[in-house]
Amino acid sequence: MLFSKMEKDNYEQVVFCQDKTSELKAIIAVHSTTLGPALGGCRMWPYESEEAALEDVLRLSRGMTYKNAAAGLDLGGEKAVIIADPKKDKSEAMFRALGRFVESLNGRYIIAEDVGTTVKDMDYIHEETDYVTGVSESFGSSGNPSPMTARGILAAMKRCAKEAYGSDSLKGKTVAIQGVGNVAFSLCEQLDQEGANLIVTDINQEAVDRVVERFEAKAVAPDEIYQADADIFSPCALGGILNDDTIPKLKVKVICGSANNQLLDIKKHGKMINEKGIIYAPDYIVNSGGVINIADELNNYNHERAMQKIDQIYDQIGKVFEFANTEKITTADAADQIAEKRIRQLKEVRSNFFKHEHSLLTKR
Ligand code: NAD
Repeated sequence: MLFSKMEKDNYEQVVFCQDKTSELKAIIAVHSTTLGPALGGCRMWPYESEEAALEDVLRLSRGMTYKNAAAGLDLGGEKAVIIADPKKDKSEAMFRALGRFVESLNGRYIIAEDVGTTVKDMDYIHEETDYVTGVSESFGSSGNPSPMTARGILAAMKRCAKEAYGSDSLKGKTVAIQGVGNVAFSLCEQLDQEGANLIVTDINQEAVDRVVERFEAKAVAPDEIYQADADIFSPCALGGILNDDTIPKLKVKVICGSANNQLLDIKKHGKMINEKGIIYAPDYIVNSGGVINIADELNNYNHERAMQKIDQIYDQIGKVFEFANTEKITTADAADQIAEKRIRQLKEVRSNFFKHEHSLLTKR
């Protein structure tokens, strides 16, 4: 059963991690190391079942392969999930146990933060392994990735505005934001500076109050965000929210946000959005600022350099639009094809290299 799942999308390795003392139950899925060591976050979530956790980690790790490839990083894709509630089940022992599992993979997997994990958790992992990013700044790290992720979303949104309205200025544009947590708070800050108007929603009232007070955002109920009178919809909460029920409600011209796997069905819903004349910025390119930032840590972190690389998301989104227009495909398909091409090219380079080495050996 598991091998058939792995074969379907070509996963390299799935590791089940258990530590009874700390009650750690985690799964690490390495999707691909073709472009380099696999880098991806660790999600902590009270999954309803082990099957649900496995589905999630497989889906997310494959997404990281595409994200890292499309971002031009020489890194493969993986993800880890811890099956537990981040609000009550965390302990130093649990993260240190996970750190030992990461260490045992000997650099094939470099772990980082994701939903439910924090810089402090990465610091515990760092006690056991060097194969970790997103640790405290005192360890020479880049710190909280959310502002950098938000910087990337802003760059992508500006490129979308240019495509939709002929100018990349967001002044006077209304952006409807679903979920105003860590990333979207920084995004609100940057959009406010750009002179955009904000409509926000969240299931957490405190998060809503924070942005209403700070940026004079207009708050709406969670199920009203889809039909908001806005120019841009920015999903920054959960995946699967672009689907049969929600797409018909949208009045915007652009969708550009940080949430992973926004399209419930990439083919079907990518096409539905296209047919509605809405410009969709592929999620894993839009939100790649976070991973671009932490990947820079592997090269003696430099904040200015990381920001410059993140700003290139503007051009990256432009390339996706051009390719989609030329090939007459959806932007979601265009992003996947660009990422797949990069992986294929590297495989070819490697295979040619080995053929060359083999011919030298046989000549000797
Ligand atoms: P977060 O947990 O801080 O914020 C998410 C917010 O969404 C929370 O305030 C939550 O209450 C709200 N929310 C959840 N369900 C909702 C619903 N149904 N309707 C409205 N609001 C809802 O997470 P974050 O770090 O800000 O990340 C947001 C998204 O961006 C996630 O999907 C994450 O995977 C993705 N992402 C984050 C980063 C990063 O740097 N943190 C990088 C890449 C991608």
